[in-house]
Amino acid sequence: MKTMTRRQALKLAGGVTAAIPLAMLVRRGALADELAQVDPEETTAKALGYVHASPNPEQQCKNCQLYTGEDGAEWGPCAIFPGKAVNAEGWCKSWITRTG
Ligand code: SF4
Repeated sequence: MKTMTRRQALKLAGGVTAAIPLAMLVRRGALADELAQVDPEETTAKALGYVHASPNPEQQCKNCQLYTGEDGAEWGPCAIFPGKAVNAEGWCKSWITRTG
């Protein structure tokens, strides 16, 4: 049986490590497409004043810290609404400046 050299093992590990974030991005995008859109009439959405179109272009879901959608996506996940997608141009009272 042929054993793997340390160099080969490190190269393999690097390839696997590099592939994981790419797979997560692809999966995250797929998940956003699969999520049901938040209904602004739902209890939580209504309490937070969620709207699909923010009245303030400087405060939108896509620049909120709690939004985890992909850049350029129309819809994406939000920590406030687990299992649902919010509009990237939406807004609610929990909006907080994205820091990273
Ligand atoms: S917390 Fe509100 S503003 Fe922020 S992403 Fe979620 S719904 Fe949009």
